[in-house]
Amino acid sequence: MKDMHQDQQKIQNTTQPQLSVIPLGGIEDVTKNMYVYEYKNEILIVDCGIGFADASALGVDLLLPDITYLIQNCLPADKAKKRIVGLLLSHGHEDHIGALPFILPQLPKIPVYATPFTAALANEKLREYQLPADIKSVSFGGKPINLGPFSFNFLSVTHSVPDTSHIVIKTPVGTVYHGSDFKIDMTPYDNKRMDFKGIVDAAKDGILIHMTDSLGSDRPGHTPSEDGMQKTFERLITECKGKCIVTTYSSNVSRLNQVIEAAEKAKRKVSFVGRSLVKVTDVAKRLGYLHVEDGTIIDINQAKRYHPSKLVLIVAGSQGQENSAMTRIAEGQHRDISLSSDDLVVFSAEPIPGNEEAVNSLIDSIAKTGARAITSSQSTLLHVSGHGSQQDHLMMMSLLKSKYIIPISGNYKHLVMYKDLAKKMDYIDKNVLILENGQEVIFTQSSYRLGRKIATKNVYVDQLSGEEVEGFVLRDREKLAKDGIIILMVEINTTDGQLMNRPDIIARGLLPKDIETLQKSLTIEMKKLLAKRKARVTNWVHMRRQIEEMASKHIFYKLRRRPLVLPIVIEV
Ligand SMILES: [Zn+2]
Repeated sequence: MKDMHQDQQKIQNTTQPQLSVIPLGGIEDVTKNMYVYEYKNEILIVDCGIGFADASALGVDLLLPDITYLIQNCLPADKAKKRIVGLLLSHGHEDHIGALPFILPQLPKIPVYATPFTAALANEKLREYQLPADIKSVSFGGKPINLGPFSFNFLSVTHSVPDTSHIVIKTPVGTVYHGSDFKIDMTPYDNKRMDFKGIVDAAKDGILIHMTDSLGSDRPGHTPSEDGMQKTFERLITECKGKCIVTTYSSNVSRLNQVIEAAEKAKRKVSFVGRSLVKVTDVAKRLGYLHVEDGTIIDINQAKRYHPSKLVLIVAGSQGQENSAMTRIAEGQHRDISLSSDDLVVFSAEPIPGNEEAVNSLIDSIAKTGARAITSSQSTLLHVSGHGSQQDHLMMMSLLKSKYIIPISGNYKHLVMYKDLAKKMDYIDKNVLILENGQEVIFTQSSYRLGRKIATKNVYVDQLSGEEVEGFVLRDREKLAKDGIIILMVEINTTDGQLMNRPDIIARGLLPKDIETLQKSLTIEMKKLLAKRKARVTNWVHMRRQIEEMASKHIFYKLRRRPLVLPIVIEV
């Protein structure tokens, strides 16, 4: 404490340049990653992810990072106190890019950069919401890109989605190594290796702050390589007399390639089932990341033409998500696929903490059909984590030798475990910072102090994108989207459940005069709705749904159109 006090004295008495770091999401709750780097009045943002309202992937409702700080300081564009110079995306997982369609329309126009696969996934997502899909694709190995006082470059790292990057950010105060999700995989299946040279080069001139993934910091040893599961898939597919169904994470393209390769060896056709899978594999195919022979992939509605022993189905929904393709197949509710006793379901995934019960009940439903299920707990070669373990982290620390470390992307216990690890590398207590969302830290070249604590609230939104629904539901959504999209920003007082301000409307594909009409009438209707129940709000999911229902009805009554209505409810 004494040290920190002296540091604070020092920093207050200097006019040294200062860099602020503010996590708006991603600490303590793993998901909804969003980090702000601020120098003078210029801001660089990294990541824009969603979180899950009930701490599991099963929730229908999603959480967004709270960007009140950005809105208050960066708008309106002509009178803004601060300027956002850009947004960088580290990789294509939902908890890093999923909030883009909700957040980007609220911010001034800013350039967004990502590596090719991430940019393609993110642009796909924006197109779905009728937003301009202009995320810039940056390949690894290029020159640093300047954004105001910052410059950055992406370094290739291994994780569980193609083109995952760590970001080296040069600032006038020092270099930040933004180490998002990773594991050290020396033999990645796609042969895209970790850029150790880039990491060492970045460390040459000294790194001030190392922000790092901490999710696997409670696991001893190294995380095993992604390579090597293919042999297991080959054996299981050959042994299976009926259909072989593999369920895994949609974005793990290396895993999909291993299943495809094993299926081709067994001369079986492959079909992707579930919207998220179809979406990701389309992008992967377009970019040449999916390795597949001509004629291997068939559409699911052609599957009936083949004997089950000639089929491998890759199915979304490994977490037992309600309404996912896998759950509907297991419950006998899928249009094209049913299970029989010759079939095998391979879980090439682990239940995300919180989903164990849902996965167990899914396995039970499969068992009732007579089909066999095999999970990663029965065979260690069916799934490996995409996050580094203790040895991976120790290795990274010894390569980077940063002055300060901020563990991110973990629950509190992971942050603490990471700190313990860092102490083994001789870091002193105060140089490893355990933060909370909204806590600003102000760095100079030689010290730091804690700055403002920016209040971050829970922001709920309907899950439109992350869900694993079938194509026909999507087509409904697309049809709806032709009538426009309305995002309603509603601030509600937690203590009495009433409106705090007039709701904000962000609309696409609607006339300005219609928006104006709605602005007035919707405020009145919303007040009426909320006045019925003046009480402390306990169920925010229910609150959001009520508002959505009322707003949809009212908008149809006023405009005779059915735009897609997405209320974002902010608890104040
Ligand atoms: Zn990730």
